[in-house]
Amino acid sequence: MTVEVTAGVPAVDGVTLAIEVRGLSHAFERPDGSSLEVLRHVDVSVPRGRFVAIVGPSGCGKTTLLNLVAGIEEVQSGSVAVSGEVPRCGNQRVGYLFARDALLPWRTVLGNTELAMELAGVGKVERRARAMALLEEVGLAEMANAYPAQLSQGMRQRVAIARTLAPHPELVLLDEPFSALDAQTKLLLQDAFCRLWGRLGATVVLITHDLGEAVALGDQVVLMTSRPGRIKRVFDVALPRPRSIVDLPSE
Ligand code: ADP
Repeated sequence: MTVEVTAGVPAVDGVTLAIEVRGLSHAFERPDGSSLEVLRHVDVSVPRGRFVAIVGPSGCGKTTLLNLVAGIEEVQSGSVAVSGEVPRCGNQRVGYLFARDALLPWRTVLGNTELAMELAGVGKVERRARAMALLEEVGLAEMANAYPAQLSQGMRQRVAIARTLAPHPELVLLDEPFSALDAQTKLLLQDAFCRLWGRLGATVVLITHDLGEAVALGDQVVLMTSRPGRIKRVFDVALPRPRSIVDLPSE
């Protein structure tokens, strides 16, 4: 499966790029030793402060692209720059939120919310204050001493959002964080995330298979498909809300 993406608002003078992907190609080895080409010559430019939604069907390479930007996957061919630097796993300026919350079961809600700040070296008093303020924002302050097993999936994902945003990351990478939720919880969480993001001013990259979600949340939508050898399109979503697609891709 091969994907080609040409994406991004051109980096015009004065626009700082949070992410710059150039000529990125990536392949995995199949169990039979053959190669599965997932990305081919991908170019993506994400200006700082934008909310970019990358939408495409399952298996088209979205997570692979995000993992390469996060430094989780090693670049094979082409280049990726995050704030002008080679991505590295564990960069405290980058927050990563997955579809599943991945909370530590032995830590309380508060302990989980503080986790990324601990790793970022934020002091105890500051950590506690920020964590409680964020839990308040996502409506879980009263559950601060509960354990993940006592929470619903939507609640756990709210904790994960608080944990991701607590260290004030410059870049937030979201891998289908709302997809496993029921419709109402999804809307609540999307709303909570966007409110917090608005205050933080971080750059956000959301990957999703849901075009409606991409258009509702993104300032810019990047379309990935799984048809090999095709240049994919970018369309900007007009601001302010209610947003509309101003430049639909044409084949
Ligand atoms: P998406 O996020 O769009 O669903 P992925 O990036 O997760 O797509 O996967 C793209 C393709 O690469 C899929 O066919 C998947 O099975 C394959 N793939 C992903 N990671 C690996 C891996 N570590 N090893 C082998 N194949 C992989």
